[in-house]
Amino acid sequence: ANRPYIVGNWKMNGTRALLAEARAIDRGAARAAGVRVAIAPPFTLINPMADAVQEIGVGGQDCHVQPSGAYTGDISAPMLKDAGASFTIVGHSERRAMHGESDAVVLAKAGAALAAGLDVIICVGETEAERDAGQAESVVCAQLQGSLPTGEDVAAKVTVAYEPVWAIGTGRVPSVDDVSAMHRAIRDRLVAIYGEDGAGVQILYGGSVNAGNAAELLSADEVGGALVGGASLTAESFLAIVVAA
Ligand code: 13P
Repeated sequence: ANRPYIVGNWKMNGTRALLAEARAIDRGAARAAGVRVAIAPPFTLINPMADAVQEIGVGGQDCHVQPSGAYTGDISAPMLKDAGASFTIVGHSERRAMHGESDAVVLAKAGAALAAGLDVIICVGETEAERDAGQAESVVCAQLQGSLPTGEDVAAKVTVAYEPVWAIGTGRVPSVDDVSAMHRAIRDRLVAIYGEDGAGVQILYGGSVNAGNAAELLSADEVGGALVGGASLTAESFLAIVVAA
């Protein structure tokens, strides 16, 4: 079985001063050998963080679909790899909502990441209106169908993060039953897409995970880890989640 996978998404937070927290997280992760730990810092910190840590993975929060070219302000997957990243997140709801990224764009980004030799964490999740309308599972399954890359040996490089949009940064989390139900639905879809390899894909929960709720959320069926935003910004709060995993 896979080790629990706890990933910090620093979003647009952190200057070099925050590398001290990454070092402390790295030391803590070395003492928690049963847990796999990673951080996705802003692009500017990928290279110094990769140089500063030993135990934890370092990754991007997004990448462009093309490897290079006239795309002012964008960062490509080969650039992430060159900077020391081993993975990238794609399809975060903040990218889908604020940058208009469709499933097709997320799929292309995931393909670009894999082509560059990076693992990918692909995010899916419903809005509150979609959940209220009883559409949460159908929305998430459609996102999976549209944004998961397929092909030989791809499943081993893919992680799915289920992040209900209404739980991100709000302090609200779904019930354990709701998390279990959604993660089981995601597992079924992964097996439909990847065959037996789909059984090994890790499915992370994300959205207001903190030291107080991590153990309960991580105990839900088919939850293989967590994607953590705000609580990943200090070693104290992030390592408390790692220890709970
Ligand atoms: P919070 O943990 O701050 O709710 O963010 C979750 C998230 O979006 C991680 O990608």
